[in-house]
Amino acid sequence: MATERTLVLVKPDGVRRGLAGEVIRRLEDKGLALVAMELRTLDRATAEEHYAEHRERPFFGELVSFMMSGPVVVQVLEGEDAVKRNRDIMGATNPANAEAGTIRKLFAESIEANTVHGSDSEENAAIEIAFFFKPEEIVG
Ligand code: UDP
Ligand code: MG
Repeated sequence: MATERTLVLVKPDGVRRGLAGEVIRRLEDKGLALVAMELRTLDRATAEEHYAEHRERPFFGELVSFMMSGPVVVQVLEGEDAVKRNRDIMGATNPANAEAGTIRKLFAESIEANTVHGSDSEENAAIEIAFFFKPEEIVG
């Protein structure tokens, strides 16, 4: 297994409920290390670009509005197999289908307000990390 980086967002529902630390704790406990982090409120252009792959989906407009509804914690996590490891810690998109003990099973409010985002491949992780952070903002 190789050392990878992945992009994680604590979404507005998570920050609003004080779950940012809870998310970081769970990622660090499973061997992922924070190498970049920022609290920010996404504007429309940023939210739309982040979710551009879903532009044609019926939920896109509501999803973008939700992502702009409050601050998010944008993070880069690094470690062995980081992309899949983070997806396993997050759980399935729909909390109804998420495995017990995952972040989404424990904390998601709905399929939309599901507390966290995580990159779904190494290729997308590289794109998403470069979208949110300059190289010099990533430690190590
Ligand atoms: N989403 C939604 N309705 C759906 C499917 C997805 O609101 O029916 C939202 C949800 O917030 C999800 C995001 O769109 O996390 C991106 O969807 P994707 O299929 O990429 O899921 P993820 O990679 O986040 O598990
Ligand atoms: Mg996705």
